[in-house]
Amino acid sequence: MNKQDFRKYAHRAADWMADYLEGVESMRVKPDVQPGDIKNQLPLSPPQQGEDFERIMADFQSVIVPGMTHWQHPMFFGYFPANNSEPSVLGEMLTAAMGAQCMVWMTSPAAEELEERVMEWMRQLLGLPGTFTGVIQDSSSSATLVALLTARERASGFAINQKGFSGAERFRVYKSTQGHSSIDKDVKVAGLGIENLVNVAVDEQYAMIPGALEEAIRKDVEAGYTPLCVVATIGTTSSTAVDPIEAVAEVCRRYKCWLHIDASFAGTALLLPEMRWMSRGVEYADSFVVNPHKWMFTNFDCSCYFVQDKEALVRTFSILPEYLRTGVDAVVNNYRDWGVPLGRRFRSLKLWFVLRSFGVEGLQCKLRDHIALGAWLEDAVRSAAEFELMAPRYLNLVCFRYHPSGVDDEGTLDRLNEMLMEQINEGGRMFLSQTRLNGKFVLRMVAGQTNVALRHVQQAFAWVREAAASVRS
Ligand SMILES: *Cc1c(COP(=O)(O)O)cnc(C)c1O
Repeated sequence: MNKQDFRKYAHRAADWMADYLEGVESMRVKPDVQPGDIKNQLPLSPPQQGEDFERIMADFQSVIVPGMTHWQHPMFFGYFPANNSEPSVLGEMLTAAMGAQCMVWMTSPAAEELEERVMEWMRQLLGLPGTFTGVIQDSSSSATLVALLTARERASGFAINQKGFSGAERFRVYKSTQGHSSIDKDVKVAGLGIENLVNVAVDEQYAMIPGALEEAIRKDVEAGYTPLCVVATIGTTSSTAVDPIEAVAEVCRRYKCWLHIDASFAGTALLLPEMRWMSRGVEYADSFVVNPHKWMFTNFDCSCYFVQDKEALVRTFSILPEYLRTGVDAVVNNYRDWGVPLGRRFRSLKLWFVLRSFGVEGLQCKLRDHIALGAWLEDAVRSAAEFELMAPRYLNLVCFRYHPSGVDDEGTLDRLNEMLMEQINEGGRMFLSQTRLNGKFVLRMVAGQTNVALRHVQQAFAWVREAAASVRS
């Protein structure tokens, strides 16, 4: 592609993006496709000769876009959001144009220093003490892996990095039964063994019971295990339950156990002073992760990881081959030593654009709006006789199910709700997802897309009621 064509198609792409974000509401949320439908429209081998960009763009529009689930659709209520915003997209475009590697200061000085400053801003916004230092990771899964590896190295005197496992370590990791599946994966990847992940019981609010944690740790210590790390969650994925950080931290302190806080989704709510109760005791944590790529209008990927013992982190990951040595290593942050990959994207740029463009008050205003939508939906569920609220609502996620009077068999209720979800999602007008709480099939609706408004939530719940009536008959 020549420079002139690049300019032309960049303008075209910009127009497409603006049209998309403006018009996404008129599309189906979930595409009407079967497995293989997209693949079958694509040639089996790559083209030998370069193709005209006009054709590439046309195929993007006719093959790819109709096969996408539209996460920026205001009627997308599934999972947790992965919302974006115009400033974030602009930052991402500029990042791509510069195509810089941000592994050490020297390879992108401005990227390193902007990341340092923006993470300091984030630390303040989240109400984390000044003893925390931040770094951007690609995902919460990676951040939690980094926490586990750092805890592992600190506990072993950095011997496992050196010699590998001796076989005598017998480390244990703890999370609640509601902790995220990425923790299970990270325990495996860190070489700790999934059988050494202990799932601690939760209370009626689905929050970890500190007494049960203490009991599990005490038993393990008696049996010769070493408690390595507790992963506590602020905002579980099933129901945004909040583990009692202060009480959990107390247990961790007693057993000299690393405390990692997984606030992947709900951490963003800590921008609101009225939500700070969720993180009470956070000063006793060793590490903390929140994903601006979920609920902070910053497109995937951007995960903010904070750690108290920066030295232990860097010592766990640092590696210094001659070809990466620079004269300023002693006075700058070389983020290649703060996580697993060497090569790093310039992720702080889009986050900086978002923070400056919204401003703190702009962000707070959006978050409060979304939480108010959650409250509206909670009220709507409570006042609809045929629906049942299935977990406490803290933020913008509401867990509920259809429960018509006279139907009390749990198996039947599961099937009804599964059919209900399928009917709603296949309709394409809105999208929600499911979980299981206490073994029961539960519908999850989270109002977190950037531009979701009351009219969307009202319409969505009206459709849910309509679909419920039709599923019943
Ligand atoms: C989404 C989520 C994760 C995983 O986040 P990734 O960035 O996709 O790895 C982990 N924990 C919780 C509580 C989550 O909501």
